[in-house]
Amino acid sequence: MTLRGYELFNLITMVKPQEEKTLVLVKPDGVKRGLVGECLRRIEQRGLKIIALKMFTPTREEIKKHYPNTDKWLRGLGEKTLEHYKAHGQDPMKELGTDDTLEIGRKVSGWLEEFMISGPVVACVVQGIHAVEMVRKIVGNTLPAKADMGTIRGDYSVDSPTLANLQKRSIHNVVHASGDPDEALHEIEHWFNPQEIHPYKRAEEDIMF
Ligand code: ADP
Repeated sequence: MTLRGYELFNLITMVKPQEEKTLVLVKPDGVKRGLVGECLRRIEQRGLKIIALKMFTPTREEIKKHYPNTDKWLRGLGEKTLEHYKAHGQDPMKELGTDDTLEIGRKVSGWLEEFMISGPVVACVVQGIHAVEMVRKIVGNTLPAKADMGTIRGDYSVDSPTLANLQKRSIHNVVHASGDPDEALHEIEHWFNPQEIHPYKRAEEDIMF
């Protein structure tokens, strides 16, 4: 019997919930704006633990394998874009030449690839209770215009598909964080080998739990 990612995740987190793991990338815009420390500070402040960390400039091949690139994921990109256009009274046919979610997703993912290989990123593995969900909350909504204040994207980015799509580029939203446990498992394995992950005990663990 082989365990699917999600089943394996459930098994680990049932026994040791404090060992749930997720992946964070400070994107090229975050690194170039000097926001690495700020992103990591917010994660550590919450009580989540950084157990792996490195800087590198990704290759196109690596980025292609990082994102799911499935039709479902591409359609998701397209749907978020269409929702944004609807909310802002914009016509996708006029802006992008199509209103097909898959086609829009393909365009966006091409721009995203270019952006992610445009400079160094900082990757880290973050561990803690409900790490995947908590880090997504710290990071905030994909579209900075919709991100709540107090989130990294809400406090440090102001980009929008309205401008990004016009300039045929990815949205610059400072960070990436795994969207769900399956993504987290895949992304951690993709960017880190086991020797690069360093379990340790944080001083306040005895007091907090
Ligand atoms: P998240 O990064 O929040 O998990 P997605 O996986 O849906 O969100 O999107 C991946 C990345 O693609 C986003 O973080 C953003 O940088 C970029 N992106 C998403 N939608 C658009 C868009 N309409 N135009 C340009 N870039 C986009």
